[in-house]
Amino acid sequence: MEVLGFIAICYFISKFFGGNDNKINLKCPYCRKDVNIDTPGFWNCPYCDNSFHYRSDGRVLLSDEACNEGVILIAQLFAKLAKADDVVSRQEIDVVDRIVRNDLELSDPQRKEFREAFNEHKNSVLGYLEIIHQLNYFYRETPQVLLFIVDSLFTIARVDGGIHMSQENFIHAAIETFNTTINMRYEDFLQGEGNSSNDNGNEYDNTDTAEDRYYHVLGCTANSTNDEIKSAYKRLVQQYHPDKHVSKDLPEDMIEYAANKFKEIRQAYEEIKKERKIS
Ligand SMILES: [Zn+2]
Repeated sequence: MEVLGFIAICYFISKFFGGNDNKINLKCPYCRKDVNIDTPGFWNCPYCDNSFHYRSDGRVLLSDEACNEGVILIAQLFAKLAKADDVVSRQEIDVVDRIVRNDLELSDPQRKEFREAFNEHKNSVLGYLEIIHQLNYFYRETPQVLLFIVDSLFTIARVDGGIHMSQENFIHAAIETFNTTINMRYEDFLQGEGNSSNDNGNEYDNTDTAEDRYYHVLGCTANSTNDEIKSAYKRLVQQYHPDKHVSKDLPEDMIEYAANKFKEIRQAYEEIKKERKIS
């Protein structure tokens, strides 16, 4: 009995103080085989390849009961935005509900999960930049979803009066990040011109080469002149230069985001310079 108690205590200690072997053991909801996972989230069963969602409260949802990972990220992002002006207003909740009903094709249990994710995330510590980056990755093949997200962010931010400054920064960050996929500017959205094509006719498509991506990073296209590329590069580098952020009291994820962005911009410019033989 005492031995069991000791083992139980060791187990709890290892749980709480984070040994690296914190495997969660559960039964696959489809084939009932034992599956080991590391963290809550979406998992594919290694035996039957069905996917399920292991939630942080310990529930296991089947894929048709669960929202997919991207939809959960959308719920989290909406919550973060609604919270960005400190109070989540009734109007904000209503407009999110309306967006979910009209634009996301969800089953009843999925809608419920969306609402839960929204509520849980209003106060979570996960930074919005992290969510934005995950969304950009998740929907990299379907830029129309990213456009939908940005449109929705504007709708939510506007519903209780004007766009609050913190919400503006937020939406800026979303567009900056998604821009590597959709190539849009904040101004385009403000002017209500947000749609999947743009002035340059440089519509994103899945056959994009590495080169196209470099141009996207700089907000340019293969048709841009050398001068346009140089000035885009200068502007972006100024915006994201690490020195600019050190002195300011910025959240850590913002600094990290800027640092990564800075690296990305420099790399894109180096590659384009090589390609065009610009000195
Ligand atoms: Zn299975």
